[in-house]
Amino acid sequence: MYYGFDVGGTKIEFGAFNDKLERVATERTPTPTEDYEQLVETIAGLVNKYDQEFGCEGKIGLGLPGMEDADDGTVLTVNVPAAKGKPLRADLEAKIGRSVKIENDANCFALSEAWDDELKDQPSVMGLILGTGFGGGLIYDGAVFSGRNHVAGEIGHTRLPLDAWFHLGENAPLLGCGCGKKGCLDSYLSGRGFELIYSHYFGEEKKAIEIINAYKEGEAQAVEHVERFMELLAICFANIFTANDPHVVALGGGLSNFELIYEEMPKRVPKYLLSVAKCPKIVKAKHGDSGGVRGAAFLNIK
Ligand SMILES: [Zn+2]
Repeated sequence: MYYGFDVGGTKIEFGAFNDKLERVATERTPTPTEDYEQLVETIAGLVNKYDQEFGCEGKIGLGLPGMEDADDGTVLTVNVPAAKGKPLRADLEAKIGRSVKIENDANCFALSEAWDDELKDQPSVMGLILGTGFGGGLIYDGAVFSGRNHVAGEIGHTRLPLDAWFHLGENAPLLGCGCGKKGCLDSYLSGRGFELIYSHYFGEEKKAIEIINAYKEGEAQAVEHVERFMELLAICFANIFTANDPHVVALGGGLSNFELIYEEMPKRVPKYLLSVAKCPKIVKAKHGDSGGVRGAAFLNIK
C-alpha cells in the first residue's frame, strides 16, 4: 500500500493507493498552522489509522509547497509555517518507525501524471504548472529527478530567455518575483503573469478568464495579448525543452485549461528548438487536484 500526504497551507489530504495504484482511501484534515508537534502527530495518526484498517505498513510519501534543505534535511517552506525550519522527515521517521519521502508539490504533480496509464511507459515526463505560479518537475523512468538541492524543475525561477525579451519589444515589462529576482518565468507564464502582462500593455486589470473569454469573442486587445503570450510561452518552452528534452509534457494549473495552448505550441515551439529536435507531445494533466496526493504516494514506487 502506498500512502500519500499532500500537505498544504490550509489542509492535509491523505490518500492510500493499492498495488494497482488505485485509490482506496481519502481523508482531509486541517493543517496545524503553528504547532509542529501537532503536525507530526496528525500525519503519524493517519498512518497508524490506515495501517490498522488495511492490516499493513504503508509506504509513506509527503508532498509540500517547499523542499528539504539538501544538507540538514530541514524544511524550507513559506506556506506551511508549522514545518518551517523543522527536520520533518527525520521526526516522522522516528515517530512512525519507517522511512518517509518528501518532495516538492510540483514534483509530486509531475510524478502523478507520469504514472497515468497512458504515460507510464514514457522514459521521461515533464510536468509544468501554469497556475498561481509557474513551476514544474522532471520524471525520469518513473522517478522524480530533484537534483543536488531539490531545485531541479524549479523552472519558474529561471529568467526570461533573450529572444523572449526581444519578442516583448521596447516596452517589455521587467517583472519582480517572490524569490527576490527580476525577470523570473514565474512572473510571466503563470496565470498571474498572464494578467500582469495584459495590464502592462493595456493599463487595465482583468482576470485571466475574462481575457480568454474576450479573446474567444474576437476582442482586439485580447487577441493581441493572446498572440503575444502564446509566442512568449513557445519561446520559453523551447528553451526548457532544449535543456531537458522530455518525451512528453503534461500541463496543469488554471491556465492549462486554455485549449489554444495545445494547438499553438506544436506550431510555434519548433522554430526555437535545435533543428534536429521535435516538439514533445504536450498534453493536459489528467489528475487535477488529486495530483499532489497521488504523486506523494507514488514517490515510493521506484
Ligand atoms: Zn523567482
